[in-house]
Amino acid sequence: MSDLPKNVQERLEALSREFVRRVPERMREIRSLMDQSETGNRESLREMRLRVHRVAGSATTFGYEKLGAAARTLESRIERDLAAEVRSPSEETKTAYLSFQERMERVERDPVNNDSGQRGSDAPAVRYDRAVILVGDVPGLPEDFGDQVAVFRFAVSFAATIDVVADFCRLKLQADDNAEHAHEDDRYRYVVLVAGVNHFSGSPARLALLRELRERYRKGIVLILLGDEDDFQTRLRTVRYGADAFLPTPIDLTRFVDRIDKLTRNKNPEPYHILIVDDDPEQVSDTALVLQEAGMITSVVTDPSRIFQVLVDYRPELILLDMYMPECTGAELAAIIRQNENFVGVPILYLSTETDAEKQLTAMRSGGDGFFVKPIDPEYLVTSVTVRAARTRAMRFYMERDSLTGLLNHTNLKQHLEQELQRARRIGLPLVFVMIDLDRFKSVNDTYGHLTGDRVIQSLARLLQERLRRSDTIGRYGGEEFGVILFNTDASWAETIMNEIRESFGRIRQTDGNTEFTVTLSCGIAEYPHYESSVELNEAADGALYDAKEGGRNRVVVARR
Ligand code: GH3
Ligand code: MG
Ligand code: MG
Repeated sequence: MSDLPKNVQERLEALSREFVRRVPERMREIRSLMDQSETGNRESLREMRLRVHRVAGSATTFGYEKLGAAARTLESRIERDLAAEVRSPSEETKTAYLSFQERMERVERDPVNNDSGQRGSDAPAVRYDRAVILVGDVPGLPEDFGDQVAVFRFAVSFAATIDVVADFCRLKLQADDNAEHAHEDDRYRYVVLVAGVNHFSGSPARLALLRELRERYRKGIVLILLGDEDDFQTRLRTVRYGADAFLPTPIDLTRFVDRIDKLTRNKNPEPYHILIVDDDPEQVSDTALVLQEAGMITSVVTDPSRIFQVLVDYRPELILLDMYMPECTGAELAAIIRQNENFVGVPILYLSTETDAEKQLTAMRSGGDGFFVKPIDPEYLVTSVTVRAARTRAMRFYMERDSLTGLLNHTNLKQHLEQELQRARRIGLPLVFVMIDLDRFKSVNDTYGHLTGDRVIQSLARLLQERLRRSDTIGRYGGEEFGVILFNTDASWAETIMNEIRESFGRIRQTDGNTEFTVTLSCGIAEYPHYESSVELNEAADGALYDAKEGGRNRVVVARR
C-alpha cells in the first residue's frame, strides 16, 4: 500500500492506530467471554465468536496478517464447538485461543514490528478487487463502517477531497482506453466513490475533476452520493453530478452493500439483441454489421412468418423493420406483433428508403416507434437503437422481477419454464425444474423479525445468482419459495449442484445485528423428459420438495416414479 496517496495513507494509519489502541480492551472482553464459556455458558461462546470475527476483519484490513489468521482459526474452532453443541470450549478451541491471545499481545506491545512486518504486505490473503473510497466528510455512516464493509470484501480507503482520488485511480484502476494491463494483480476492477452531495455543491473544480475521472475510467468508477435531504432538488443535483445511486442518510448498511454489489457485479453486461426483418439480404448484412460492430447481437429474419419463433427464442430488445417485403408490409407485420400482448414492450423502428411523410406516419400508426430513412448515419443508428434497447431491458427488469430479490417473479418464472421447455423439446436436450423452500422460516420471522427474514431471502437470491450459470433461470416463486430452471442439465447433476448450494447456504452467517444464526433449505427436483409438461414438472418438483420436508428438511430430493 506504499503507493497510496499520502492523504489516504494517513487516514488508514490513523484507523490502524485506533485499532491497536483498542486491542487491550478487546482482549479483555474476549478473555472474559472465554472465562464465561468455560463455565458452560454457550451464549458467551457465541458472542465471543462475533468479537473474534471482528478482530479478524480489522486485523486483515490493517495488515496484521498473522493476527488475522490466528483470529480466523479461533473463530472456526468456536464455530465447530457451537455446531457440536459442546458444553464448554474444546481443547482445540483453548489452544487456538492461546495463540490468538499471544498475537493480540504482540500487536499491543509492538504494533509495527511484530506481526508480518510490513503493513499491507504485497500478497494479501484475500484479493480485493473493489475499492470503496470515502471522499471528504461523509455524513451518516455507522461507526463500525470499516469493519462491516471489510466483511464483504471491499477495501476501504479515505480521501479528503476528490483531488486525491485522481492519483489513486491512476495507480490502481484500468483506464478505459488502455486495455492491455487488464489483469494486473494489484489493480482494482472498480473504485466506488462515496461522498456527500455537498462535497460537489458550489465547487466547479471538483465537479470538473469528477467528470474527467469518469471520462477516463468509465465503467471502472462508480459514484454513490449520500445526503440527508431526499427532495427533488437534491435528486436533480445527483443526476447532474452523474451519480449511479443516491442514498438518503443515515444509510442502511445492508442496502448500501447490496447497491455496491449490484453496481459492480456485471463487468460485461450482456449485449443487446436486435432483430432485423428485411427481405433484402444485402441491406440486412449492412445494418447487421453496423450493429455488431457496436457490440450488439443481431438476428435476421427474411421471411416475416418466422418472426414469432425468434421473438420467443431470443427475446430481442428491439426490432428493425423494413417497409416493403413481398409477403406483407412492415406496417402489417408491426400490427401483427402488437396484437400479441407478450411483445407490446418491444420497440419497433422502421428502416426504409420511403421518404413520403404520409406513408411514414401511416406505418407508425400501426405500432412503430420511429422511422429512419436509408441510408442512415451509422452512429445515429447505433445510438437510437442502444437507448431504446436499454429502456426495453430496464422495463423488462421491473416488469418481470420481484422487487426484494431482483429474481423473476412467479408469473414470469412460469412463462420462462414454458418457453425453455419448448426449446428443450425442439433441440432435444434435458432440463430440470427445481423448487426450493426455506426451512422453518416462520420461526426465523418470529424470532428475529420480518426485516431480518427478508435479508435471509435476499442472501439466498444472491447465492443462487452467484452459483448458477447465466443460461439458468432463477425466480422467486412466492414468499420463501424459489424456482430454478437448469437448462441442458439432468436430475443427477442438478442434485449435485443443489446439494452444494444447500450446504453453502447453511453456512451463511445470518444476523439480525446482535445474534448470529443459520438457516437451511429443502429442495425438490424434477427432470424433463421424465416429466413432460410444465404442469407435470411443477407438480413433481413440488412433491419432491414435500418429501424433503417430510424426510427431515435440509435435503434435496429428486422426483422419480
Ligand atoms: P417449512 O417450510 O420448513 O415446513 O416451515 P416454514 O415455517 O418455512 O413454513 P411455512 O410455509 O408455513 O411458512 C412460511 C413463512 O414464510 C410464513 C411467512 O411468515 C414467511 N414469509 C413468506 N414470505 C415472506 C417474505 O417475503 N418475507 C419474510 N420475512 N417472510 C416471509
Ligand atoms: Mg418454508
Ligand atoms: Mg413455504
